Amino acid sequence: MTAKRTPLTDLERGTPFEQRHIGPDTAAQAKMLAQVGYGSLDELTAAAVPEVIKGAEHLALPAARTEAEVLAELRALADRNEVLTSMIGLGYHGTFTPPVILRNVMENPAWYTAYTPYQPEISQGRLEALLNFQTVVADLTGLPTAGASLLDEGTAAAEAMALSRRVGKVKEGVFLVDAETLPQTVAVIETRAEPTGVEVVVADLSEGIPAEIAERGVFGVLLQYPGASGVVRDLKPVIDRAHELGAIVTVAADLLALTLLTAPGELGADIAVGTTQRFGVPMGFGGPHAGYMSVRDKFARSLPGRLVGVSKDADGQQAYRLALQTREQHIRREKATSNICTAQVLLAVMAGMYAVYHGPDGLAAIARRTHRLAAVLAAGLRAGGVELTGDAFFDTVTAKVPGRAADVVAKARKAGVNLRLADADHVGVSCDETTTREHLAAVWAAFGVEGDVDGLDAATDDALPGGLLRTSEYLTHPVFHAHRSETAMLRYLRSLADKDYALDRGMIPLGSCTMKLNATTEMEAVTWPEFGALHPFAPADQAAGYLDLIHQLEDQLAEVTGYAKVSLQPNAGSQGELAGLLAIRAYHRANGDTQRTVCLIPASAHGTNAASAVMAGMKVVVVKTAESGDVDVDDLHAKIEQHGDQLSVLMVTYPSTHGVFEEQITEVCAAVHDAGGQVYVDGANLNALVGLAKPGKFGSDVSHLNLHKTFCIPHGGGGPGVGPIGVREHLAPYLPNHPMQPSAGPETGVGPISAAPWGSAGILPISWAYVRLMGAEGLRRASQVAVLGANYIAKRLEPHYPVLYTGPGGLVAHECIIDVRPLTKATGVSIDDVAKRLIDYGFHAPTMSFPVAGTLMIEPTESEDLAELDRFCEAMIAIRAEIEKVGSGEWDAADNPLRNAPHTASRLAGKWDHPYSREEAVFPAGTTADGKYWPPVSRIDGAYGDRNLVCSCPPLDEYED
Ligand SMILES: *Cc1c(COP(=O)(O)O)cnc(C)c1O
Repeated sequence: MTAKRTPLTDLERGTPFEQRHIGPDTAAQAKMLAQVGYGSLDELTAAAVPEVIKGAEHLALPAARTEAEVLAELRALADRNEVLTSMIGLGYHGTFTPPVILRNVMENPAWYTAYTPYQPEISQGRLEALLNFQTVVADLTGLPTAGASLLDEGTAAAEAMALSRRVGKVKEGVFLVDAETLPQTVAVIETRAEPTGVEVVVADLSEGIPAEIAERGVFGVLLQYPGASGVVRDLKPVIDRAHELGAIVTVAADLLALTLLTAPGELGADIAVGTTQRFGVPMGFGGPHAGYMSVRDKFARSLPGRLVGVSKDADGQQAYRLALQTREQHIRREKATSNICTAQVLLAVMAGMYAVYHGPDGLAAIARRTHRLAAVLAAGLRAGGVELTGDAFFDTVTAKVPGRAADVVAKARKAGVNLRLADADHVGVSCDETTTREHLAAVWAAFGVEGDVDGLDAATDDALPGGLLRTSEYLTHPVFHAHRSETAMLRYLRSLADKDYALDRGMIPLGSCTMKLNATTEMEAVTWPEFGALHPFAPADQAAGYLDLIHQLEDQLAEVTGYAKVSLQPNAGSQGELAGLLAIRAYHRANGDTQRTVCLIPASAHGTNAASAVMAGMKVVVVKTAESGDVDVDDLHAKIEQHGDQLSVLMVTYPSTHGVFEEQITEVCAAVHDAGGQVYVDGANLNALVGLAKPGKFGSDVSHLNLHKTFCIPHGGGGPGVGPIGVREHLAPYLPNHPMQPSAGPETGVGPISAAPWGSAGILPISWAYVRLMGAEGLRRASQVAVLGANYIAKRLEPHYPVLYTGPGGLVAHECIIDVRPLTKATGVSIDDVAKRLIDYGFHAPTMSFPVAGTLMIEPTESEDLAELDRFCEAMIAIRAEIEKVGSGEWDAADNPLRNAPHTASRLAGKWDHPYSREEAVFPAGTTADGKYWPPVSRIDGAYGDRNLVCSCPPLDEYED
């Protein structure tokens, strides 16, 4: 008997990637469908998705490819990028990522698949890493409180402008920007200033603050140190003068230079900002990298973004947590200090570890070598008769070559080096950690001069100004001295990663966050030098592969969302929101409707919405939520009526933040349009819509998507992200653009929203690969299984916990909210108790108290298989039974496993005087020692940490007491 022949074409297809990405296989899906009460995925989605939004399901995307094929395609794209040595500077520098950090952080899922550390007990590793980062920034800048982190240098400077206005004494007047500021920073500041009515004045401050500007009032001053041309100036006189005027002073500083130069804080600055890219983070054609900000103590509570602080746990042990969380946009909404949510955690961890690995002396040695090369380079140019614009510099010199600049840049390029074409007469040259003698020779040759490195070295002094040499110490904490061998570093990284719960341990069922698979194939290309080593302002013809990938991804996302045009520039959802609202603002103004400034936002919206609206110069008006959880349509009509021709936009999340497909969405959109307003659909939750409906087709004018949610970019412990926006045709002229890269957006655009032309370009291959691997069919199935998973959990948990909101057919969308409030009321067991008890069961808690206090929002995603979904449901059901024991009095109300959760190993080994057993504590129902996750600390006292704010590495004696 001969075996049946399988055709080669079938075999060549291999296992479709879709089957790797989607957790439940066909048999599991059938079981889940039976539980939910439907016969097929199509039947389920037909019932769950409202009729009114259907009709645009078809995705014109290429068919799915295998992993091998996609890697080959990425390789071909990479090969079309030309990696030259970059000496362009402007805040982006070559750097050598220590391979121990590259492999064990950047390429390690224990770090990159982690979530934002809102549950600090299971995030101690990354919180410690971020505290190191904050300590590096605080020490080097000489300002005591640093956050972790900001999105890039340009936005950090813009945040400093907003902070200056918030905390300063001068409320009117201008924001004064040093002419030596990086050009992209100036542009980002201008984009942000315009809608908030701030006037930005750029001026040469080398001779002080011009009297006519001082007379107008100055609320803030921004200085660049060293300047964009490379010059290092003593900023103290300008800072003192600015303070006399009552201004808050920000210094944008290069951290590597600060290892040798007097810190901004010591010069009198109130705020320091910048990027940490050159601390081991690849340039990535613009990002992602961690921006930083540090401030004087008195501004700590106004600092934008996340701040890691030290507190203690229930056993009195030192523990880390996010401090002052009540400042966040989640809680403060339109009164928030900024709209930053997703930041750049993974990159901040890398930069912090770079400093841990090199230590203060290692960093200073890198800085000294960089400086020496620049000094020798300058000496060679001068000896060859080339005039330089300044005498004091750190790593960058600007050469004056009247009429010859383009020619010099072209010659250098032929020799494999990119220089900065500042203008027709000036060329900038920056040295960095990767610069070699050969590079100096190539640069000299491009200028037509000859140089002898050793001879010049012997004859040349340093070019750092004597009065600005750093005398203060930095990085004195033991952590910057203890991990200097690779063995020690490897083990330090491993020990921190082991403290944390990430997707490599189990599911993270966070509603509104979409913690799905970040496939290895998708991640592969990110660290290839052809994607990692490109400078964002490299000539476009060196980035042909990148640009092709970018434009393909823009088109794919436009197809998925039903919009005419997509911009990939925003580097987080919050930034997409701002970009989208600025487009709407510009559109109204172009129509002469300058009075349209009211932004309607439902009460249940994500906090970033309101915060972004304020940044876009809008007035936030809250629309009520109906009993059902939907937008209160009567209230919406009333608000539309009330605000008449002031209405600018309705910002609404779809599916709603309550996890349901609201049926009246098209009606809502139409009402807003009829009143002359625009509709912004927050598309962060697109995981329920891809292949099922398109916001651009059901009435919305603009949406942002979160590629770090729906499109597989990992969360990185709280960043990086990409928050592209899609717009309909009429808003396309108002997308972001970029002064250094005309092809990055329309000429009529609103200006840059990020420092780099394509934002976090370095991680776009991830989403591109996901779309390629899944194809139209796979993407649609992913959404369907995501909806199935959420409904499966809702159905399984419903007998035990009420499911708060449902839509058509009693179904939820891709997430569900379960209500714990009645149980809390009856038994005293809080939502915190449930979340922390889940840790004992081996889970990361779902989203807590958002959008409704006292509830849990669960989003399983399509990637979790049935076994994991069941393990989660069983844990939740077991916890429900535990709550019952507290309610019935069987368990002590004050001393029970819920109240004391999570249980650490050290508590288990200590004196045990609880009325329940050790087994009940750490191996509750069904859990075993096999694969058990042990939290390193017990429940953390948040209030204590906020009262006693410590935001950098605490001294060792504190560890001892
Ligand atoms: C995550 C999220 C945002 C914010 O996105 P970030 O990338 O964190 O800035 C906005 N809206 C909704 C509904 C979200 O879930």
